Formats: sequence, structure tokens, C-alpha cells
Amino acid sequence: MSTESGLSALRRSGVDVHLPGDDGYDRARTTWALAVDLRPAAVAFPRDAVEVAAVVRAAASAGLRVAPVGTGHNAHALGDLSGSVLLRTSAMTGLEIDADARRARVRAGEVWHPVVQGAAAHGLAALHGSSPDTGVVGYTLGGGVSWFGRELGLAANSVTAVELVDADGELRRVDAEHDPELFWAVRGGGGANFGVVTALDFALYPIETAYAGMLVWDLREAHRVLSRWASWAVDAPDGITTSYRHLQFPPIPEIPEPFRGRRLIVIDGAALAGDDEAERILAPLRELRPEIDTFARVPAATLSRLHMDPEQPTPGGGRSALLDELPSEAVDRLVETAGPDSGTSLFLAAELRQLGGALGRVQPGAGALARLDGQFQLITGGMMLGEQAKQTIVDGERVVDALASWSRGRQYLNFQEEQVDPATGFEATDWAALRRIREAVDPGGLFQANHEIPGGGAAPAVTGERAS
Ligand SMILES: Cc1cc2nc3c(=O)[nH]c(=O)nc-3n(C[C@H](O)[C@H](O)[C@H](O)COP(=O)(O)OP(=O)(O)OC[C@H]3O[C@@H](n4cnc5c(N)ncnc54)[C@H](O)[C@@H]3O)c2cc1C
Repeated sequence: MSTESGLSALRRSGVDVHLPGDDGYDRARTTWALAVDLRPAAVAFPRDAVEVAAVVRAAASAGLRVAPVGTGHNAHALGDLSGSVLLRTSAMTGLEIDADARRARVRAGEVWHPVVQGAAAHGLAALHGSSPDTGVVGYTLGGGVSWFGRELGLAANSVTAVELVDADGELRRVDAEHDPELFWAVRGGGGANFGVVTALDFALYPIETAYAGMLVWDLREAHRVLSRWASWAVDAPDGITTSYRHLQFPPIPEIPEPFRGRRLIVIDGAALAGDDEAERILAPLRELRPEIDTFARVPAATLSRLHMDPEQPTPGGGRSALLDELPSEAVDRLVETAGPDSGTSLFLAAELRQLGGALGRVQPGAGALARLDGQFQLITGGMMLGEQAKQTIVDGERVVDALASWSRGRQYLNFQEEQVDPATGFEATDWAALRRIREAVDPGGLFQANHEIPGGGAAPAVTGERAS
């Protein structure tokens, strides 16, 4: 079937489809990542698994690929879509909670905030990330670093079942008993390498409150505060997970006092500990006399907005790297390139997520991303519009390059907002297995993922060695 007749057939099937030239095409192809100019052959908004299967079959028979996305938070890494149907799951929302079993089931288009609220109504919490509106599916199947991560591990490893439409257009439910190999691959290997995920089941945890908040200093304190946080972070108990940031706020009315027009250090995070224990853990940071300290016992559901991540579509982007350590020389380099005298243009001059703990240990029954092999996740972020986009990349790469000596080139792909070698996200043996499974379930390469695992992978890999 020709591309044109295949797409016409899809349209006749009743699925909401937008083609180039249609009035709604530009709106349909615009995602959360406003600066990413996606130009797909078509955009489809299926409402359920039956319609997802119709899109997959129609695309295959029209000779097109299928690129599933939730919100588009990682649309930066999607390649050329001129031969692909962008399959948007935003019409497929829905959440069910089994409080007794401590399980949630979400449909593919669900974002975190309503899930966090729904779970909290039962005294339960999910391993959500810092942003209330990232998609549950993209975040979770790519790994998922939450405020509870150092205690409870990656969100991908709390998934108990995945429903997906495969390359033949068949709906499959995979779990530890049914197709365990595919279940392993999809948890960390990212859904879109293996199909279009229509629903996810995952564990919830009995967490009603946390000791959480933020500590704030002027950016001029960067060397003193980062030196302390960097050594504190590696020795802190698993029950606390934090982030360290250098932020520059423009002097505009939309930014509330006391952040407006300021350059600040913000350490935020959450402790799963009693008040006395949490205060003991935080004491070395509080000793540095932050000008704002909001750490206190709070309902766990408030963590969804703790990090103040943007909830509207945003023209941002940046660079990132996994770091092994942050010795004093690395602190010097970070302050030089992202500190008060760096001249950086970035809103998020640098962020370091505290990893380790359960995030760094292989979890029993884990999927393809069993752990993150690094102590810190470095992230930069700025505007990606017009001329500013180049400066955002230059300033981001300056920070990443300055810290390259403390990175082995490995990546946590969820935070990679550019196309990188996806093998750098996995252990060598796991990478070979992922390629083999991709070949088995999608031999024609129908699906287009943000971080694509090519089929093949027959080559044996040496255990414990990193793929490259
Ligand atoms: C502001 C911000 C805050 C973030 N905070 C965190 C954080 O705290 N912790 C963390 O670990 N990560 C975080 N991330 C990274 C985030 O996990 C990734 O951007 C993730 O890809 C977002 O998933 P999404 O579905 O919203 O994005 P999308 O761009 O929609 O999806 C990303 C990819 O997931 C796959 N995918 C999505 N839906 C489906 C589906 N139904 N079937 C098959 N494949 C699918 C596709 O390959 C798609 O390209 C953050 C990112 C941003 C921009």
C-alpha cells in the first residue's frame, strides 16, 4: 500500500489523525519541548489499545515507522520523523489503584501529578520524578530517578506488568511469568524499542509523609556549599535523596520573591526518616547557614512540586553526564564553569542529582537498567530558541567537558536531550541482550524510540564490561 493510501485508510478507521497541510497539523506535532521542531509524516491520537493497533498496522502497511510519545519531555532525542507516524498517547489517560495490593495501573498518556494525588488518597506513594507533568510511561521505562530513589531504587524496577501493542499490531501483556524476556527488556530499555505501551502496572509504597524541603544560598557561596554537599552526599544514608543546583532567575514579575533576579544555590530533597533522624542527617548542610530553609515534615504528595519544574510546554534543553565522583578538583571545575564568575547564560547553570544507595545497587528481579553506575547525575539547562540555543549548548558542554575526567562516558538516557550512542546507557551484556530482543520482537525496525536500540546484537559481550 502506498503511504498516501495507507494514511487515508487510517483516517477512515476513525482514529484522530493529522497530516501535513491539515489545519490541526502544527498543533498536533507540538509537544512539551517547544523548541523541538518535529515534522512527522502524520500525527495520530489513538484513544485506546484498539486504536493504537490500528495505527501500528496502518503505518506498517504504508511503509512508515511509529514513534510513540507521551508528553514530549524527551522529544529532543527523537530523530528524523519524515517517514514516521508520531503516535501521541495524550488521549489515553486513566488511573486505577488497588490500595490493598499497593498497585497502580495507569494508561499510557497519564502524567505523574494525578497519579501522585491518587495514590496519596490511599496513604501511598509512587516513585515519581521531580516534574509533575512528565509522562509516567516514558519516565518509568527509561529508568526513573525519584525523591525516594536512594531508598527504593529506579522506578522501572517497581513495574509489575506492561501492556503493549507489538510490531504485528497485537496487544500483549508481559510480566515476570508471561514473556519474562520482553518484560526484562522494556523495564529500562524504554518502551518504544519494543512496541507502543498502552498501560503500566507498578508498585506503590506506604509513604504518607517525608521530611522534605529546600535550602537556599546566594550563588557566591558556591564553592563552600558544593564542597560540603559533594562529600556529604556520598556518605548520607540511603533514606535521603537530594539535588544541588545553580539557578539564575530573571528579574521578571512572573518570578516570585525571594527568587526574582537572583543567582542562587538550591539544595532540595526528601528524607524517609523520623524528624530527629532527618535533622541529624541534614545538620552538616544547615551548618552552612542557608538564607532559606523549608525542610520540615510534609505530605508526600507535595514532593511532586518540590523542585519547581516547569509545568507548561517549555523551549528548553541542555546537556548531561553521569559522574563517578566529585573530588575537590571537580568542585573547582564546576564552580569555574557554572559558578558566580563563570559568565554562563544558563538558567540551570548546573544541577547534580545525588545517586548511589539503592539506585546504584542491582535490585532483585530488575529489568535491563538494573542500576545507575554513577554517583551523580549532572544536568544543565537553558533556552533553546533562536541564537540563544547555540549559547545554551556551548555553556552546557563547557560544564560537561570540565567534569569529563570524573565520567566514564556512561549515560542515564532519560536525561540525555540529544542523540547519543545508546549503548553508553547499559552494561555490555545487557546491551547485547537488548539488541537480540529488539531483533526478535521488531525485526523490521517499525518502532522509533528517542534512544534507539538497533536490532541484531548477536555478538557475545564480556560480563561486567561497559558497552561502547
Ligand atoms: C523538566 C524535566 C524534569 C525531569 N525530571 C526527571 C526526574 O526527576 N527523574 C528522572 O528520572 N527523569 C526526569 N526527567 C527525564 C524524563 O524521565 C524523560 O524526559 C522521559 O523521557 C520523559 O518521559 P515522557 O513520556 O514525558 O516524554 P516523551 O518525550 O513523551 O517520551 C520519551 C520516550 O519514551 C518512550 N515512550 C513514551 N511513551 C511511550 C509509550 N506509550 N510506548 C512506548 N514508548 C513510549 C518513547 O521512546 C519516547 O520517545 C525530567 C525531564 C524534564 C524535561
